[in-house]
Amino acid sequence: MPKSDLVSLEKLEPLFNPRSVAIAGASGRIIEPYVYDVTTAPMVYLLTYGYKGQIFPINPKYEEIRGYKCYPSISAIPEEVDVAIVLLPANTVIDFLKECGKKGVKGVVVTSSGFAETGDEGKLNQDNIREVAEKYNMVVLGPNCNGFINVSKGIPVTFTPVVDQPKLVPGEIAFISGSGATLSGIAQRAKEWGMQFSYLVGTGNSAQLDEADCIRYAIEDPATKVVMTMIEGFKNGSKFLDVADLALKKKKPIVALKVGLSEAGVKMAASHTGKLAGSAKVNLAAFKQKGVLMVEEINDFILSAQIFTQTSLPEGDGIGVLSSSGGSAGLAVDLIEKEGLRVGELSPESHKELSDTIRWFATAKNPFDFAGQFLRDETFVPKVCDIFLNDPDISVLVMVMTALQAHEPVILKQMIEAQQRHKKPVVILYECGELTPEMDKMVKDSNIPFITSPKECFKVVGNLIRYSQFLKRAKEVAPVVDIPAGARDKALDVISKAGGHVMERESKEIIAHYGIPVTGQKLATSLEEAQAAVKYIGYPVVLKIDSPDILHKSEFGGVALNINNDKELKDAYGAMLKKVKSVAPKAKIRGVLVQEMARGDGVEVIVGVTRDPQFGPTLMFGLGGVFVELLQDVSFRICPITLTDAKEMIRETKGFKLLEGFRGSLRADIAALEEAMVKFSRLAMDLESQVKETEINPLLVLPEGKGVKALDARVVLG
Ligand code: ADP
Ligand code: MG
Repeated sequence: MPKSDLVSLEKLEPLFNPRSVAIAGASGRIIEPYVYDVTTAPMVYLLTYGYKGQIFPINPKYEEIRGYKCYPSISAIPEEVDVAIVLLPANTVIDFLKECGKKGVKGVVVTSSGFAETGDEGKLNQDNIREVAEKYNMVVLGPNCNGFINVSKGIPVTFTPVVDQPKLVPGEIAFISGSGATLSGIAQRAKEWGMQFSYLVGTGNSAQLDEADCIRYAIEDPATKVVMTMIEGFKNGSKFLDVADLALKKKKPIVALKVGLSEAGVKMAASHTGKLAGSAKVNLAAFKQKGVLMVEEINDFILSAQIFTQTSLPEGDGIGVLSSSGGSAGLAVDLIEKEGLRVGELSPESHKELSDTIRWFATAKNPFDFAGQFLRDETFVPKVCDIFLNDPDISVLVMVMTALQAHEPVILKQMIEAQQRHKKPVVILYECGELTPEMDKMVKDSNIPFITSPKECFKVVGNLIRYSQFLKRAKEVAPVVDIPAGARDKALDVISKAGGHVMERESKEIIAHYGIPVTGQKLATSLEEAQAAVKYIGYPVVLKIDSPDILHKSEFGGVALNINNDKELKDAYGAMLKKVKSVAPKAKIRGVLVQEMARGDGVEVIVGVTRDPQFGPTLMFGLGGVFVELLQDVSFRICPITLTDAKEMIRETKGFKLLEGFRGSLRADIAALEEAMVKFSRLAMDLESQVKETEINPLLVLPEGKGVKALDARVVLG
């Protein structure tokens, strides 16, 4: 760990913490007072931030710029250069990079646009950037990016005006963004809200370094506690997931604003599973699986990252709500439910204590409405806060403040003190107008989470709770599921013997090697052989056509169920061949598969794996039949999955209720299903380079204790 293609920290260090910076294309134009310009800004910013390393402006037109000797080219600089920032037109970039390479520059920030974003030719030039970088062992940020700011060390290598006055103050949040303009905009807003950063990095088109590399660098730095990232699209999703694993291990939350969820993967897929695996859904699932918090909106993005620098993590998931308004408390409860969160339940002791504290109309419950009791008694709010925060089922306390005039600063102060007295997170949801300067100062000085929109508040609180649950889940070691020895070799053997035609028969052999139970089966090429097979399998049986040209057997009359005696066998055998020959006259028929007929109560589910273009083999789970097609009631995880993942996947679908035993039906063997899913995901990983898609449809989940059985399977070679 980390494996994949992450760029090494040793190579990133001189980029993000350079001892010298060259500015190619620096402008010598000096206007006082300073007017912003892309070509003057980087140098001005380095000076403003008191950069302690060396600065080398490059521009043949000037002898010196702002008192610094200016060089005609990078090679003319007599000293070592760690980083060069390029403010030159696209067509000069490659030559400049080569010169940098020869000079031994370690990192280059290419701000120039006109690469992959413009089309095929631009893309070729962009590939060229990566090649040159690799050839000379350099790292390159961009092209089409606005650079980075190492705020911790006061090093801006950028032209983004977000570094302008007031200066950025070092903090604990790293913000890594594909889009530079969005980075600047969001960072500007965050800065105005009092948020402080450790790093701001615009990765642009990511010719070489991408978000994952930069996030990795940031989380390895003790200065960074939280990562915000905006991702437009993954070139290499698994690289990101590796970094997500690392971040979770280091307990550093990643809050991701993901845009441009492409559906490209859907079109490429041929199987059932494939069509259901929209990249958007897969993306969401991958984030959940790896403990990445996903947001859809800018304010949630900022506030969700910020809260991790303001409070401790909640132990549980129960939320306490205090309010001076019953209406606002009610709205809070609605939103808590909508977010899939939970209102905490006060213990009988807390309940009694609260009842004893109340004197008038209020009811002792969570959410708690003060009903004006604080007006005469300044000890009231602190007492209630203590009761709530001492209760074992209250993990986060939200104070919904409505207009209380002169009492507002008093209550705010009391809440800040309550937060300091207890270890649990306390959040202010302020549903009034502008803060007075006095209150604004209290909020900023105390750094108490302060949110003005109810919807944002519970999204943010939800993210706080979800993250602590991610950490808990990561700590639990999911039991290992054993795969029978030699499974992979045996499976590969089946594939090689199949001569390119892996149909149900071979597919079931493959999954059986992985320890997933399948129906007994025997191929028959004549009625006599079918009869002999029945002796071995026993009635009732199922007949299925075995043809490399027929994928959906039942659509061609190629499935006959519940055959109970020799007469039925003879009829069904003849009818099936006749029917198939009439509807698919060209289909090559290898024979008829005689199969054990699975009986009794059970729930048919579908378990499939497709190859997601961003994340690789991805497991899908859903109920079989109409539920999958009509309701799209499916869940996803990136392979390989753990038993915990399988548990979550099953419980995410509405179909879970059916498995649990709905209206008198027996509870299905969910544990066996979970185990089969893990085995299937291992199969998908083992055979990744041979297999494009694979699916068990249906997998019959028998009543508890009876296991599962694959009734049909399909391994698509690719
Ligand atoms: P298709 O190629 O059309 O998907 P299947 O093999 O999945 O054909 O069979 C269609 C349906 O028949 C299954 O969804 C399942 O309900 C039922 N079925 C198939 N095989 C068996 C079996 N061995 N025992 C019981 N039911 C079966
Ligand atoms: Mg089927």
